[in-house]
Parts: sequence; structure tokens; C-alpha cells
Amino acid sequence: MRRYLVAGNWKLNMGPAAGRELAEGVSGLLRGRELKGDVLVCPPYVSLPAVAEVAQGDPVLLGAQNCADQAGGAYTGEVSAEMLAEAGCQYVIVAHSERREYQKETDDMFVAKIDLIHKAGLKAIFCFGEVIGERKSGRAQEVVKAQLEGVLPRLEFVNAYNTVLAYEPVWAIGTGETATSEIAQEMHAYSRQVLAGVLGQEVADYMRILYGGSCKPGNARELIGLPDVDGGLIGGASLKPADFVGIIDGAEAAQG
Ligand code: PEP
Repeated sequence: MRRYLVAGNWKLNMGPAAGRELAEGVSGLLRGRELKGDVLVCPPYVSLPAVAEVAQGDPVLLGAQNCADQAGGAYTGEVSAEMLAEAGCQYVIVAHSERREYQKETDDMFVAKIDLIHKAGLKAIFCFGEVIGERKSGRAQEVVKAQLEGVLPRLEFVNAYNTVLAYEPVWAIGTGETATSEIAQEMHAYSRQVLAGVLGQEVADYMRILYGGSCKPGNARELIGLPDVDGGLIGGASLKPADFVGIIDGAEAAQG
């Protein structure tokens, strides 16, 4: 049985004061509850210390949205995985479609980042997914296969516990248009099959694959209840405690 993970990606929102308030709101709503899965919030770098005071893993874990593809040195503006570990992070998101698109990040960079994340003792959340044109032209599976095969076999330390995958169809991110259950299950099952081919069946059986793309309280239970969906990567709905906890409630119900 794979434990669910519900992860909030706050993106470029929530400075230290607002971030702390949001984290307090989430942990306040979860206080005293014994959860069947894991809950994570990923604020902007500058808000990590303030949020770390609240998100200490009981039950809310702390993560970052990115890290450098270098261990240290003359890379102005960058933050290393090791620094994030020292700041109290347990997870780092890598390869989000917004970084693929706006920062033009590449497979080589994802490999370097994930290796450094693992070396720092942290877990990586590796995002992948097709854009609308690729889906409409029938290439969705071909695209995600290339994204997974371009990175996973090249990782030095990868295992089922230090790495989480996040299938995020780009056409569903921030659009209000969620993948249907049929599409989500088909793409997750296919990704798990690719994973088995690359890292072996045992890793594929245990590695979590999250769904991301306009997940909200109203659809979380159905999506996270699908056989190959092990939680959610949540953007917009992670910015309000009641919505985020509503999704966690959906995951709890889905876990049975
Ligand atoms: C995301 O950016 O990872 C995401 C899933 O965003 P949203 O939930 O807003 O679609």
C-alpha cells in the first residue's frame, strides 16, 4: 500500500508573514488528527524559515519549489539542496512545467538537481506531463515516456522512497480543467509501466505518482481514489487552508 502525499505548491505567493499564517491555518485544521498519508507545503525560499516554525512534520512537512543544479560556488541567486535540508525541508519539487517553460530547464538540469537532492538526504518530486497540442495530436504517452526515460535511468541514488513522480497535464494546471478520471488513471498506469521498464517492477510498485492539475476538494476523492494515483500536487487550492484540507479529506476518504 502506498501512503498518499498531498503537496501544496505555493508558487510565487505568500511572503513570510502570509506564509506562516497559511501554514498555521492548515496545521490548525489538522491538529489532533491521525492522518493516513503525508501532507507537505512548498513556500517560496524566503518564507521557508517562517513556515518551518509551523510545518515541523506533525503533520505538515516542509518542501521547496526548486533548487540549484550545482552544489555551491559562484552561481548568483541560486539555493542548494543542502541549504534547503538545513532550512528544514524534506522534499524539493523539480521539473515543474512552469520551470520547463519559463526557465527552459532541461533533462540534464533535472538529473543534476535530483542527484543533489538525494545526496542532501531529501526527497525529489519530479513533475512531467504533456501540453494540450501533444494530447490533441495523440502524443501524450510518447511525451511522458520521453520525459521519464530522459531522467530516471540517469539518476545515481533513486529509489521508491526518495523520489515521487507527479503527472501534471499542462493543460490542466491553473486552468480549472481537470483531467477526467479515465485520462488520469490511463496516464498514471502508463507512467508506472514506463517506470517498471526503467527502474524495475518493485520500484514501480512502491513509488508514489501524484496527480496535479486543478485538483480541488470536489474532485480530490475521485482522483486520489484511482488505483494508480497516490496523492496530489496542488497549486491554487493550496493557498486557502479550508480548500487544502478539503483535498486532504478527499485523500483520507480515498485511502479507505
Ligand atoms: C501546479 O502548479 O502544480 C498545479 C497543479 O496547479 P493547480 O492546482 O493550480 O492547477
